[in-house]
Formats: sequence, structure tokens, C-alpha cells
Amino acid sequence: MTNKPFWKKKELSQFSTVEWESICTHCGQCCLIKLQDENSEDVFYTDIICRYHDCKTHLCKEYQNRSRLVPACLKLTPENLGKIRWIPDLCAYNILYKTGDLPSWHPLISGQPLPNKYKISSHVISELDVPEEELENHIIEEDSND
Ligand code: SF4
Repeated sequence: MTNKPFWKKKELSQFSTVEWESICTHCGQCCLIKLQDENSEDVFYTDIICRYHDCKTHLCKEYQNRSRLVPACLKLTPENLGKIRWIPDLCAYNILYKTGDLPSWHPLISGQPLPNKYKISSHVISELDVPEEELENHIIEEDSND
């Protein structure tokens, strides 16, 4: 009899819906608006966050409808995990995919809420408050998954 947690016992494709959803820490990193250079295809993170992100609860206000409301909001699946260039380094799905385990700070391991340092900064701005022509002024980081 093994006491291994489900994420170490099963393939990602074998996770139940509840197990899959429990991997998300609601860090909000994937909800930051990203810009892509048309020529190089490099992806740049900004400090602007999706209009549907609730910065108090760190949850999406339209989680069930997100794909319809924001077609660019990609739903992570076991199949597409390794193919998404812009997935944040600290995304728990990304870490699990790459290492086969979750980090010590993940709530499923620590039993504690996600530490603030792994959540998006409280200084992010809603996309509702930023005119499109100013988006480039909010670039904070180029993706590092190349
Ligand atoms: S970056 Fe990953 S862990 Fe963080 S909210 Fe997005 S899907 Fe969840």
C-alpha cells in the first residue's frame, strides 16, 4: 500500500476534475495580460490583469464562462501543458509537468494558503483602466520558457 499523493501516483491525464482543479493555486500569474511581438513571437508579461480577475479573492469572476468571454483565455489540459510557451514558471501545473511533483509551498503540501510572494503583485492594474495604446508601457518581463 503506497501513501503517495495522487499527483505522484497518477498520470496527469488520469486526474479527476476535482484533482486537476486542486493543482491551481490561484496565483493569478496566467491572468496577466501578455503581449506578443509579431515578428519574433516573443511573449511579454505586463502588470495589467484580466478584467474578470478578482484581486481580493484571487479568483476569476467568470470562471465557468471564461472561454466564451475571453477567447484568448486558454484552458490548461494535460494535453496542451507542454505546448504553451507563455505558461508562468511558477504555475503549479507547469512545475508538476516539468518535475513530476509539486513545490513545498503548494497548499496541497503545506496545508497553508499560498504565500503572498507567489501571488500576483497587489500593484497590478485592471485592463479596464488601461487604454490599448498604453499597453506596451506596462511590460514587466519577457517569458523565460524558451
Ligand atoms: S498560473 Fe497556473 S496555478 Fe496560477 S492561477 Fe494560472 S493556472 Fe492556476
